[in-house]
Amino acid sequence: MQRIHFDTEHNLFRESFRTFLQKEVVPHQERWEEAGVVDREVWAKAGEMGFLLPWADEAYGGLGLKDFRYEQIMSEELAYINEPGFMLPLHSALCGPYITEYGNEEQKQRFLPAIIRGECILAVAMTEPGAGSDLAGMRTSAVDKGDHYLLNGSKTYISNGLLSDLVIVAAKTDPENKHAMGLFLVERGMPGFERGRKLKKLGMHSQDTAELFFNDVKVPKANLLGDGKAGFIYLMQMLAQERLTNACGAVAGAEAAFQATLEYVKERKAFGRAVADFQNTRFKLAEMRTQIDVAQVFVDRCVMDHNEKKLTAEVAAEAKLFTTELLGRVVDEGVQLHGGAGYMWEYPICRMYANARIQRIFAGTSEIMKEIISRGLKL
Ligand SMILES: Cc1cc2nc3c(=O)[nH]c(=O)nc-3n(C[C@H](O)[C@H](O)[C@H](O)COP(=O)(O)OP(=O)(O)OC[C@H]3O[C@@H](n4cnc5c(N)ncnc54)[C@H](O)[C@@H]3O)c2cc1C
Repeated sequence: MQRIHFDTEHNLFRESFRTFLQKEVVPHQERWEEAGVVDREVWAKAGEMGFLLPWADEAYGGLGLKDFRYEQIMSEELAYINEPGFMLPLHSALCGPYITEYGNEEQKQRFLPAIIRGECILAVAMTEPGAGSDLAGMRTSAVDKGDHYLLNGSKTYISNGLLSDLVIVAAKTDPENKHAMGLFLVERGMPGFERGRKLKKLGMHSQDTAELFFNDVKVPKANLLGDGKAGFIYLMQMLAQERLTNACGAVAGAEAAFQATLEYVKERKAFGRAVADFQNTRFKLAEMRTQIDVAQVFVDRCVMDHNEKKLTAEVAAEAKLFTTELLGRVVDEGVQLHGGAGYMWEYPICRMYANARIQRIFAGTSEIMKEIISRGLKL
């Protein structure tokens, strides 16, 4: 189905990002997968090309492209090549906005230029061994010591955990109030800030997901984002954009899995005919095509609503829920239609299947999405 919300400049941007991926990412994917981490240099190259925080003001080195369609395009293109480790959207669409939205002018001047150049890689650390969905249950604490906060605790499953130079860390700031939380800019090299092991995962093998530890880290007050008690609200406000970003990538991932399957079933023969000739195959593909088209229209509309600041947390949750569940179904059917080949790592559908599973879990599980949507129903 033809999409109608992109203009010529978006199409040119897509071409340019696609060329960048073909040159700087695709040739390294196998190696990154083996290494469990992407090359640091790819971040600087993306920065050089203007692909990091393109929406940021020119004063900080951005392009001033305040239009979420550019972030959508980059999430889609990364999904089309099935690259889960180079988490450009995490840096550009998820973490960067915390600094522009809640940072003061001094923080923006101090950090944004290097972030936009790709020299300062970002991560956000909310999840803890004992608190994921229930963020208010986190135990990491930051105690006010006058000119600094003393940060103690640990985080787990943190994307860009090893490569990141600046981590936005959520920590409790008032033992009496479980929702009082601050967001702290913890820099590489701060004494007491340690990285744990790179975690072994079902998929996303090129991503350096890791544990982080904070032992008496002295975080200067100048590294607190906004109000030291309002971090929980900031997280909730930012999660809508995060979920829309997930939705953009998920529907594109479903499209990629659909295309890979379509190609395979035309080539593969069984009982003297192409697998594509079986009615079951055609019906499965027809169902996928329909659901992807419907999801795409919905996501494109959400992107335009977000551009007008009209996207609600509930609708962003609907987008994440629907598209990540769809992605799960499409990769699963895709593997099935590939037969044994679908279980082999050398086939793209196998990697897509492994990489997709997390989409229904991170940035809020499907169950949490349903909670958010149902709260909006005021039952
Ligand atoms: C590869 C990867 C990358 C990640 N990257 C990051 C990152 O960069 N930063 C970060 O902070 N976190 C990150 N996470 C963490 C991720 O966001 C959490 O794993 C996720 O939010 C779920 O939390 P949990 O693992 O504690 O699961 P739990 O909260 O323990 O959930 C277990 C089950 O209980 C269900 N459940 C929980 N509460 C409810 C409820 N109220 N109603 C119904 N069911 C419920 C859940 O849906 C789930 O099915 C990452 C995780 C992974 C695996």
